[in-house]
Amino acid sequence: MKPYLIRPRIQPDESLFGHLMRCAKANLVSPERMAHRIGLTHPHQMKPTYHTLLDFTQAELNYSTLLQIEHKTVSSKLLTESSFKGFDFKWHGLNLMQSQIRRSPRICPICLTIQPNIIREQWYLNSYLICGYHNFYMTPRPLEQSQSCIDFSTDVLSKLVFQLDSIFNECNQKNKLLRSTEELLNRLPIPPLINSNDKPNSTTLSWQPHQLFLF
Ligand SMILES: [Zn+2]
Repeated sequence: MKPYLIRPRIQPDESLFGHLMRCAKANLVSPERMAHRIGLTHPHQMKPTYHTLLDFTQAELNYSTLLQIEHKTVSSKLLTESSFKGFDFKWHGLNLMQSQIRRSPRICPICLTIQPNIIREQWYLNSYLICGYHNFYMTPRPLEQSQSCIDFSTDVLSKLVFQLDSIFNECNQKNKLLRSTEELLNRLPIPPLINSNDKPNSTTLSWQPHQLFLF
């Protein structure tokens, strides 16, 4: 199987779906065509909610061969079934429930300005409401203009976001960090999945954000 000519490097916390979309664009082929070569029927099968339905051996092998990515990097990004009661998935060592994974990621407009088309793995988590890199509200779609910088340095959500960024950016996770993050995930009320009013509000968050208008 011949690798693609242009092979954008995958970021430590980049999702396989986002990387596939970037690679297809870079090689001037459709995402569907690239998905077929990987052995999928549709590129959406690379979204986290569908990982457990994949033929792991085939998906890992073809993805790593076609895009020249280490096998273990691909496998570390795939969700597997959790062996813990009450949890559905295991991802980067975290045990997660189905309700905690989004089908469509929220996005950080600033991340996308800096790295066009990037989709980070943690953006698929329903509790990841603020970008840890930019202190910016995650949105379901690009914003027309920048809105606010959020001071959330002392609350639970801030701690959770920083821990999630760390987990998705590093290969070997400490059990203590994973357990602490799972506790935080379970402490936060889970915001409703994908709906038109996706902006956090006082009913979904237990903290009051302080907004500083930049523009
Ligand atoms: Zn960001």
